[in-house]
Amino acid sequence: MNDLDAVKMKKSGIANIGYTASTFLHLPQMNTTNLIDPNPMPFNPDPSPNSTPNSVKSEVAAFVEIAGKMLGHSKSFNQTNCSASSHTSPFIQIAAEANSVRSVSVVVGEGNKTKTGNSGGSSVVQVEPVQDFSKLNKSDINELFAHPQLLSHTQLNLLRSVQKKQQLHPQRYRDDYLRHSSILLLSNGWSSAQRYSMCSVPNLVNRSGQCKLHKFCPYCCFLEKQTALARYVPVYDSGNWFFMTGSFTGDLHMTGISSYFELQSYWDAYKLSLQQVVKEGLVRGVFWTEELAVNSIAPVQVLPHIHAIVESSDLSDGVVHGIRDLVARNLRAALGPDCLPANIQIKSLNSQRKLLSHTQYLLKPIRLVKAYDAAWSRAVHDNRTGAIRLNSETTDLVLGYSAASTDRTKINYAGNLSPKTKAYIGTRESERDDAREVVAQVMGEGVDYIELED
Ligand SMILES: [Zn+2]
Repeated sequence: MNDLDAVKMKKSGIANIGYTASTFLHLPQMNTTNLIDPNPMPFNPDPSPNSTPNSVKSEVAAFVEIAGKMLGHSKSFNQTNCSASSHTSPFIQIAAEANSVRSVSVVVGEGNKTKTGNSGGSSVVQVEPVQDFSKLNKSDINELFAHPQLLSHTQLNLLRSVQKKQQLHPQRYRDDYLRHSSILLLSNGWSSAQRYSMCSVPNLVNRSGQCKLHKFCPYCCFLEKQTALARYVPVYDSGNWFFMTGSFTGDLHMTGISSYFELQSYWDAYKLSLQQVVKEGLVRGVFWTEELAVNSIAPVQVLPHIHAIVESSDLSDGVVHGIRDLVARNLRAALGPDCLPANIQIKSLNSQRKLLSHTQYLLKPIRLVKAYDAAWSRAVHDNRTGAIRLNSETTDLVLGYSAASTDRTKINYAGNLSPKTKAYIGTRESERDDAREVVAQVMGEGVDYIELED
């Protein structure tokens, strides 16, 4: 349909989803002049009335593959993206953008009660929509908006708010921001939802508009990252720098919101140890952040840890073993013998560029999308078995992490890296503008996270 009106199609697709409770995917007749691959016809180009595709999944995957090529989005719309029956968002986007596709509507639904057929030379897949909030894919904002009847007004407003924000500030809120946000915002009971969704919206009380939820908000982490870079990168020559990852061997299995309070003892074990070694003069200064790695959901397996920039004349094996022993002792005192052993990795930051890239690495919010998607692929099947548990555990994770960390600062300082001490060696507030220029120069040399792996 060369005269496809993209906006109209998008609206009609969403209207179908919302109001008729069933929608369609008309596999298109292809305009082959627009294809990168001249012979990509994995679905039957001339279906007989009784032909039935092998499965919804393969049919949809074939469509996405071809539509992706036509749109130059083969990476975004590859088969992986639709390997689970829930990944419906590409189709809505394709419908909105595919002006070279001759006949397109939209398919969305949970994949049970699937009907297949054909219509007017195009295959048709008809799928029932999701019937229950607890079975929605929370990382798929298009699926969420396609089921407004399952969401409360508050939930819809929160989602619209982050979506609008990303449209207004695409550079601030990028990558998987919407997917990350919808997982957070649909965790019912998360007390920071409103504040998070209003980040970058100034008001009388909060003139900058920043939410400052550094454990969750990527943009506020970005701002804090700029501050940290300006503080330490320009004074590289004034110190001897190390990067430290203070973690534990194994991971913790979380079984409910209250189980997350145990994380505090793990972060405290490092906090107390780092403060102690600074006090004893074994290292001169430390700047560190507390993090929680989400290794799995359903079951939830997490690993509390810290990342630190350390300034010290030396960070010998002896000092590192000393820190490790202190951590173990602190942890045993808090939790008894049944706790994870400490695991410390140290790297020398022997260039200004490395100091820059490792400081950047310190400031990032919790990452949920990867574990959520992995669990969805693993545990949620065509009839959405497993989605209820996954969503329930994800909500517990957000609420539990939030509750356990609410009285803690993610960003911590000790010794000469603390702006509040006399011994502070970093950039003073008055020199901040010059410092930002130095950072920009070093940044211009090229920074690569691969440096973290060497
Ligand atoms: Zn924010």
